[in-house]
Amino acid sequence: MYLKRSRVIAEAILLAVVGVLLPLSAAIYAAWALSVNTEKGRLELVASQAAARTHLSILNTAARLRALDDQKQLAPCSDAHVAEMRRVSINGRMIEEVGYFNNGLLKCTSWGQTTKRIAKLPPEFMSGDDIETWVAVPPLVSGADPLTVVQVGKHNALIDPVRPIDLLSDNRIRVTIVAPNGRVAAMLNDLDTQVALTLAKQDKSGLKDDYVYGVATNAGWTAIAVGHREELIAQFRSQLWIFLLFGAFASVFIVAMILRQSRKRLSPLSELQIAVRNREFLVHYQPIVELATGNCVGAEALVRWKRPDGSLVRPDLFIPLAEQSGLIQPITDQVIDAVARDLNELLVQYRSMHVTINVCAEDIKSGRILETIAARIGRTGIENTQIWLEATERGLLDIEEASRTIEEARSRGHKVAIDDFGTGYSSLQYLQDLPLDTLKIDKSFINTINRQSATSSVVPHIIDMAKALNLSVVAEGVETVEQAEYLIEHGVEYGQGWHYGKPMPADIFIAYLYENMKRRRADVIPLRRSNG
Ligand code: C2E
Ligand code: CA
Ligand code: CA
Repeated sequence: MYLKRSRVIAEAILLAVVGVLLPLSAAIYAAWALSVNTEKGRLELVASQAAARTHLSILNTAARLRALDDQKQLAPCSDAHVAEMRRVSINGRMIEEVGYFNNGLLKCTSWGQTTKRIAKLPPEFMSGDDIETWVAVPPLVSGADPLTVVQVGKHNALIDPVRPIDLLSDNRIRVTIVAPNGRVAAMLNDLDTQVALTLAKQDKSGLKDDYVYGVATNAGWTAIAVGHREELIAQFRSQLWIFLLFGAFASVFIVAMILRQSRKRLSPLSELQIAVRNREFLVHYQPIVELATGNCVGAEALVRWKRPDGSLVRPDLFIPLAEQSGLIQPITDQVIDAVARDLNELLVQYRSMHVTINVCAEDIKSGRILETIAARIGRTGIENTQIWLEATERGLLDIEEASRTIEEARSRGHKVAIDDFGTGYSSLQYLQDLPLDTLKIDKSFINTINRQSATSSVVPHIIDMAKALNLSVVAEGVETVEQAEYLIEHGVEYGQGWHYGKPMPADIFIAYLYENMKRRRADVIPLRRSNG
């Protein structure tokens, strides 16, 4: 209603856009992260199995060779010896050939006697105390994989290093084994050697260039399992839809919440709530003058709602809603704070000046207002006699409770006025029962003065009644000099209205007051001059 709707709507749209984009991008990210993690986990597992099996194949082969070496009863290179070597070669799934060395030369193999002179080379590294090891040894049969060679005592075995790992993966995963000496020992599904060696230096798993990979090490053997990024993307795509579905649900939910929230924010009540929370209320002061002299004796504090855009909202537009919803109390508190802030100095300087505060029905009933004033005004130099209270007839309906509050207010030094007198339910009886100080005649009656209307005859009666009850009278809405003269004639003491001054911001009111006082002195000085 008052809050810039366009701002609320713009904010809602912005939030909605974020509310849609955020869950969707979160869904895409989650789908991607899950795919990468699943793939990395799968590759890590393959790599760790490959490293373990490779190491195991070396130990396993060494154990067979050790057993063979221990059979001292076999005459070297006899038929029985060759047959035994062949048995070992056949039983060990990965063993291609078994050989027997003596004096540094190959004497015979599982195939039979050797014809070529083949010398034993020093080992590349040891795989255990007695296990000499070589890797990437070129095979005699061209086109076959490079071999790993293991020697224990006088026997050696040629191992196909791919055999232990070949069942680990389909051809979509490439597995490379790097030996403890840093050389590539085996490759299942070819990968660039340089890439393999680079990846071997990474730890665990990751995403590098075009590859997703997992790395594992076992007894110095490093295995790298590499999947292709396309594979990953395919997996990501297949998962994405499910995630997007959840993301879309979340988006719809968030947007619905935003819509609900904005609709709420656009309601007048919540606007008012926000205004109270943001302390958007300030006070204008309307002079109250002594009619006979025109001297300003005080001011009425009239609340204004200052919107963030700087515009001022008149109280008629929000006080009814504030009263209905209970927000009037915090608003009254802000009015009291404003008075304490705005007029503290002035009221301390001029003790005969007063400010009247409009009090809602609820506060008159409960008397809460008195404690609030005590807490907020008590800290200032302002005296209770300078704070007057105004309540409308509606606020005074419950005579017993109202009397109690008014009594208490007066005992503390405040004065209490009945506001808008004549507009509501008023009877002499009830005026008599309330311990009031002042009666404010509503501006609708003042408006009729000197006009030939039916209600114009009411004004003198109200004045007489107030006098009979010993109440001082303030006429509201005095707009013309004729009205003022009429009121003076009829013995009304005080007046308030545009004829004297409209409600104005504190600084302007203070300037007004000083001007008013100067005029008073000026009235006096010429008299003195003429005398002297
Ligand atoms: P009200 O208490 O009767 O206050 C006087 C109203 O008459 C003010 O309207 C004032 O601007 C207006 N007025 C003063 N002189 C003239 C005049 O010569 N001619 C005309 N036509 N109008 C004049 P405003 O400031 O718009 O306040 C409207 C009402 O809102 C007040 O009527 C009062 O009932 C309520 N109100 C204002 N401030 C507060 C507050 O702090 N608390 C509560 N509970 N109500 C407030
Ligand atoms: Ca008033
Ligand atoms: Ca009034």
